[in-house]
Amino acid sequence: MKITAITNARVFDGEQVIEARTVVLDGAGIGTVGGPVPPGATVVDAGGGTFLPGLIDSHVHTDLDGLRLALRFGVTTELEMMGHWTPEERAAVAGDDVADLRSAGMGITPPGGHPSEYGPPADAFPDDGDHPHDGPPPGYAFPFCSTPAEAAKMIEQQVADGYDYVKIMIEDGTVVGHPGLPVISDDVLTAAVREAHRHGKLAIAHATTIAGARRAVRAGIDGLGHLFADGPATPGIVADIAAAGTFVIPTLTVLSSATGHTGARFAADERVSSKLSSQWLDALRASMNVYPQGDLNDALGAVAALHAAGVDILTGTDVSEPDPAFGGMAHGASVHHELQLLVTAGLTPVQALRAATSTPARRFGLTDRGRITPGARADLLLVDGDPTTTIADTLSIRAVWRRGVRQTPA
Ligand SMILES: [Zn+2]
Repeated sequence: MKITAITNARVFDGEQVIEARTVVLDGAGIGTVGGPVPPGATVVDAGGGTFLPGLIDSHVHTDLDGLRLALRFGVTTELEMMGHWTPEERAAVAGDDVADLRSAGMGITPPGGHPSEYGPPADAFPDDGDHPHDGPPPGYAFPFCSTPAEAAKMIEQQVADGYDYVKIMIEDGTVVGHPGLPVISDDVLTAAVREAHRHGKLAIAHATTIAGARRAVRAGIDGLGHLFADGPATPGIVADIAAAGTFVIPTLTVLSSATGHTGARFAADERVSSKLSSQWLDALRASMNVYPQGDLNDALGAVAALHAAGVDILTGTDVSEPDPAFGGMAHGASVHHELQLLVTAGLTPVQALRAATSTPARRFGLTDRGRITPGARADLLLVDGDPTTTIADTLSIRAVWRRGVRQTPA
């Protein structure tokens, strides 16, 4: 077994900076933390850099290209909040050159509901090599749920297909540029949460308004896949979310894009642009601008209020395709942007780093990652500098390991 010792590192273990300066990787896992360097180990001198658990993006829509790009930025796990994978495609995620994947499969939404206004996910159909992602074949039926029974049936099928949690859409279209969309009813919402839990799965809501978030929390949702964006947080909604123990994936990156801020300034960082294709750079430099009347400062204030109330905050971006219509994000890169935005919102760098490591691992039951501890997966990131005090240092990537396999630098 290949043994690697990282020495002379500042170690952020997913919770805090620990005293140990040496971490030993034992094949695909973490061996010892703080012990001696075993004889015969390959030594990587961190030179005072910082060693962190691989980052987790808790809100993506992805494919193999997205997973590959994510890994180049030290994002070793992507949690997909809606998408479609055949078992064969899912099996291909076993490769060492891609981030690991969990997926909700398709979301629960009423006929004509979000996100069917965009069409089905671009990767739901085989690429014929000629017209990639050119939309659904004739007769494709978006999986809609009109009744509690239909929701139960769809969830049962998705669990049988190997999907990992349940996504439920609560969206009237206001914030996504399509006002007037049909919205899920309370009986279907409640049934979907109940069925998810009956199968031992988390239920995560897409809700972009305070009213939608309140409905989700009342229905017993485990997590909110976005922060509401239709105004400043009210004390009532913050208290409701905190009392229910609901986690929140604010997705400030996509809220920034939706409210008209491009990713151009972030893309100007050479540590970002050097790892991106021109197609991804073009997308990152764009913005969705579907909700220009919104104010990103409301979202930043809401994150601070929720965090102060003890709500678990998880780093997520809502990155999808390299298309300027979904612009402002890029796989992997945008996790670093989100960390910076969380610090802008008032989290300390250490609190922001928890949101991308130990907190999502704990909330999604990923007990084998998100921490630097003996026995955990060797999904790891080594950076120059000290992101526990200067968050942008996460971008100074020196090395990434996935299951103990060091990635070749791009
Ligand atoms: Zn999404």
